[in-house]
Parts: sequence; C-alpha cells; structure tokens
Amino acid sequence: MINLLDLDAAGLVALFADLGEKPYRAKQVSHWVHQRLSDNVAAMTDLARPLRERLADLVEIRGPTVVSDTTAGDGTRKWLLDVGAGNAVEMVYIPEDDRGTLCVSSQAGCALDCAFCSTGKQGFNRNLTTAEIVGQLWHANRALLANGISAPWVDQGRAPITNVVMMGMGEPLANYENVVAAMRVMLDDNAYGLSRRRVTLSTSGLVPALDRLREDCPVALAVSLHAGNDPLRDRLVPINRKYPIRELLAASVRYLDRAPRDFVTFEYVMLDGVNDSDEQARELAALVRDVPCKINLIPWNPFPGAEFATSPRSRILAFQKTLIDAGFVTTIRKTRGEDIDAACGQLAGRVQDRTKRQIRIQRAAAHTAAH
Ligand code: SAH
Ligand code: SF4
Repeated sequence: MINLLDLDAAGLVALFADLGEKPYRAKQVSHWVHQRLSDNVAAMTDLARPLRERLADLVEIRGPTVVSDTTAGDGTRKWLLDVGAGNAVEMVYIPEDDRGTLCVSSQAGCALDCAFCSTGKQGFNRNLTTAEIVGQLWHANRALLANGISAPWVDQGRAPITNVVMMGMGEPLANYENVVAAMRVMLDDNAYGLSRRRVTLSTSGLVPALDRLREDCPVALAVSLHAGNDPLRDRLVPINRKYPIRELLAASVRYLDRAPRDFVTFEYVMLDGVNDSDEQARELAALVRDVPCKINLIPWNPFPGAEFATSPRSRILAFQKTLIDAGFVTTIRKTRGEDIDAACGQLAGRVQDRTKRQIRIQRAAAHTAAH
C-alpha cells in the first residue's frame, strides 16, 4: 500500500499518471488528504466510484501511532509517536495568540551527539519517512480540530497549525530527501499552503546540505550556534570539527539571498559556566557582526545524567544585555509546557528510561524468584 502522506505534489501526479488519470486528480486528492484531513479514500466523493475503488486497493492514508498525548497548564500539547522497534519521537504544539506552532521531529534519535542534547544522548535510530514527517502536521491538525480548538484563524476556516518549526528530534538536514519532500507538502497551496516564512528549519550546521537547501527549498533558517569560538563549539556541537564556524557562517550568509526572511536566527543554549559569560557574549557579538541575524537565547532544559546546569536567570539577562548593547535583536526563549517536559527529546528520553527501568525491575524480580 502507498501511504498518500508519503507523496508530494509530483509524487501524486506520477501516481495518477500511472493509473491513466488526469493530473488534476492529484490536486483533488491532495485537498482531501491535507486540507479536509480525510483518512479515507471512500469519502472522496468528487472522484468517480470506480476510481475510488481502484485507489482503495492501492493506497492508504495512515497517520502516526500515538503513544501518549498530554496537554500542559499553558496549553502546550505534546504527542509521543511510536515509530516501531521500540522507538518513539515527539511533536509539540505551542499555542500563541496569533499563531499555532508545531515543533516537528525529523529522525528517531540523532547521530550528531551534541553534548547538551537528550536526543543526541539516545543515539541514532533511523530517518523518519516523508509520511512520518507530514503525518505529524496532519495528525496535529486533526487532533486539535477534534478537540474543538478555538483560535481566530480557525474560526476563519484556516487550519490550527499556522507555523512549523523543524526543531523536534533529529537533524533535519541529515534526512535531506524526506525532509525536503515533507516541507514541499507543507508549502504546497493544494496541501497545507504555509508560506516559506512560516516554516523554519533548524540545523546544527551541515554546510553542504544547507547549500543544497538554498537551491531546493529555501525556508526560514535557524542555526544552532551555542558557542563563539571553535574549540568550545567542537566540544558542544561535535559536527563543528567537520564544518567549523567560519564555514557555517559563510553558508548562512549565502543562504540568505534565497531565504524568505532577511536574517538568520542563531540559537544559543545557555549553559551555566560553560558559554554564558559577558566575555563570551562579546566574543559572540564580534563573531556574527557581519551576519544579518537575530539571536535567540535558550535556557537549557535539564535531563537526567547530563553534565550541565541551566544558567541562572540573572546571567541570561546579562548575556542578553551585552548582545543588545552590541546592536543585536536578542530574545530569550520562553519555556513552555515545563510540566510535560515539552523540550527537545525529553519525553522520548524518559520513555526509554522507563523501559530500561522495567527491564531492570523484571530482572530483579526474576533474580529474587530464582533464590
Ligand atoms: N538538530 C537540529 C534541530 C533539533 S534541536 C539542531 O540541532 O538545530 C532544536 C534546538 O534545541 C537546537 O537549537 C538544539 O541545540 C536545542 N536543544 C537541544 N537540547 C536542548 C536542551 N536540553 N535544552 C534546550 N535546548 C536544547
Ligand atoms: Fe542532534 Fe540537534 Fe540534538 Fe545536536 S541538538 S544532537 S543536532 S537533535
């Protein structure tokens, strides 16, 4: 069975060409799947019955398998999705007054092993398919509508999710083909119709893939910088040993002449005593002086077994002030959904811990029984 969530517009056109059908069928089906959020070919009443019957034998619309679905006190909602072989990924919905943002995962685990990241600590399992990436958006829209979400744009007939950030688990540029196909569906007017400025890709800095993205599918860009010099970044973001800061900054500037926004967002996670001094703020300011950018300071989210601590609030504010005084638009990410661990890789990490704990408990029980 072909999962229709796996196909971008070109893929759908090819499917209907194979069936000897006209290309406009692809648009009709795209509207059903991504706009009406249908999961059933039989319900596509503007297709002739014989075509629906043929399709029913060939295709399915299969969304993610939800393991858990939790809403925090502030409305942030997090889903844990089963992706097989004991692995799970997460997606997070962040409601704001003027938009609904979905934080989407691109891989089960991540091979890049950043020192402060719980996804990295889980190791790499596999790339998500296009269907698994698009399915996150499809499912979130369906679930929010089913729960009767109230938002001005939803009342006007638009979908609940207005913005996507590729900032969940995984490095999106390490799963290039599937991520680009999925983003094309997000941007397609016959599918989700999001503007390029409302889709943001966050990368730890895979320079060749960033140059490809500039040609293939430029969307808003966030770059995870986290350090103002190579020795420190080598330690925090090991991919820096392959693509050092200068190359990454040059690629970011190249990207901008195709990008839908005229600045890059630099993400900078605040680690107590590691990268958060005033001197390091000045070093960062000097480093990115010639890059049109905004800087987003992220209070580090702790997880069990990590060797870091979050910078105190007063330190983050002082770091921010140094950057603002140097002329940079600098924001501090609001922590959302703290009561449900709605941060990068956190919940899936806990589930793995839980599984390990269960195995330990079972072993201990077996041990006791044997004596
Ligand atoms: N792999 C991509 C996108 C996913 S991570 C990237 O690294 O950019 C999204 C953001 O969350 C990145 O800026 C990442 O550095 C940050 N992050 C990872 N672990 C974090 C943690 N424990 N606390 C706060 N931010 C974290
Ligand atoms: Fe991977 Fe991003 Fe985590 Fe680094 S921060 S390990 S690139 S998910």
